[in-house]
Amino acid sequence: MKRIVVLGGGESGSGAAVLAKVKGFDVFLSDKGKLKEEHIERLMKYDIPFEEDGHSFDKIYNADEVIKSPGIPDNLPLIEGFHFRHIPVISEIEFAGRYDNSRKICITGSNGKTTTSSLIYYLLKNAGMNVGLGGNIGRSYAFQVATENYDIYVLELSSFQLDGMYDFKADIAVLLNITPDHLDRYGNQMQKYINSKFRITQNMAKEDCFIFCSDDEITIGHLNQIVIQAQKLPFSQTTVVEQGACLEGDKMCVRYGESSYEMFLNELALQGKHNIYNSMAAAITGKIMNITNSTIREALTTFKGVEHRMEKVLSVGGVMYINDSKATNVNSTWYALESIKTPIVLILGGTDKGNDYSPISELVKEKVRAIICLGVDNRKIHEYFEDKVAEIHDTRSAEEAVQIAASIAKSGDTVLLSPSCASFDLFENYEDRGNQFKSAVRNL
Ligand code: ADP
Repeated sequence: MKRIVVLGGGESGSGAAVLAKVKGFDVFLSDKGKLKEEHIERLMKYDIPFEEDGHSFDKIYNADEVIKSPGIPDNLPLIEGFHFRHIPVISEIEFAGRYDNSRKICITGSNGKTTTSSLIYYLLKNAGMNVGLGGNIGRSYAFQVATENYDIYVLELSSFQLDGMYDFKADIAVLLNITPDHLDRYGNQMQKYINSKFRITQNMAKEDCFIFCSDDEITIGHLNQIVIQAQKLPFSQTTVVEQGACLEGDKMCVRYGESSYEMFLNELALQGKHNIYNSMAAAITGKIMNITNSTIREALTTFKGVEHRMEKVLSVGGVMYINDSKATNVNSTWYALESIKTPIVLILGGTDKGNDYSPISELVKEKVRAIICLGVDNRKIHEYFEDKVAEIHDTRSAEEAVQIAASIAKSGDTVLLSPSCASFDLFENYEDRGNQFKSAVRNL
């Protein structure tokens, strides 16, 4: 019997183990740390042997194939040990794709993946389709392939998941944008990260569709150097496109084949320049999936957004509080600042991933009344913004940050948590940071 070893027992790994078990493999799951109760329960229910707190080499290097969770870097000696023994290492998505005949709509990009995946899922659901949502979001795709029966999947894919994908094929692929991120995992080589993102197009045939942002120079630069069989459908806010999506005055226009769709930008549920891109990608997908214009319109005007992404929390004393805790890089903070029309008190900081703040420098000068640092080491923010904003304060808890922000903000202002940084110095993760921010706002 073929032996499958699953490395990492989170949502992705435990789901992959269940699918492997259901398909009749000899399965073993191994995790360096502790597993969550829900994942242990899942493994026990399906009678899957596993280990926590470290890997037993005699139980893992006898694998015929390895499914590696996306959080585990490729260059660890542990993983090199498999390469050395010529044991294939794949991702959960590659594995599950082998057992899934559904139509697959896959979304990647440096920013906007979760928002756009959720919006497309919402659109397809509203159109009455039998659709699942998975990948880098919610329940494991492999677990759903093992236990559900969907006609269509919307899959959010990170570059780490794409790295372990070889034969998987998307029917519709969306590449939202490429900006430097996670370069630590790509030997600081941008080209490697770009190649990883473009794996979303691999194996696509001419009846498939590739949706991408033609305003994104990095995407276009790479696209000019490669051949893609799939039909190319660009979206742009700066040029007119014949097939795909673009702007005409204050309207968004989509053209696909002979059919078209348009709507006023101010009707979009998700506001801001970045969300116009996300909505364009969703609308093109809707046209490809043959969804009526009225259903597309209804979905794009009623979608509620995703928690921790430009989430409006509450208005207190005329000040709007926005939770954008998921903005863990400078580019997403740029879009947040760009989309807000009022003066801003900006909560910034956390674990710095090598940030260059210059892209937001002009917007900060123009709109930001004060910066509240929420992090352990805030020196870089002080140095960079000292001569650009009137006030900079240091805080070490969400509560303190919200209280100082509230004392500075005037009626009509916005207090924005959009940190540009990871959260691990003070919080468990970005959700924890966002939740603490929201409860502090509610306690004001
Ligand atoms: P991801 O899943 O790729 O991390 P999210 O949808 O969770 O993306 O959004 C992360 C952050 O990026 C949020 O702060 C959001 O406001 C911002 N954002 C969303 N869409 C885009 C986009 N198309 N371009 C740039 N930033 C975006």
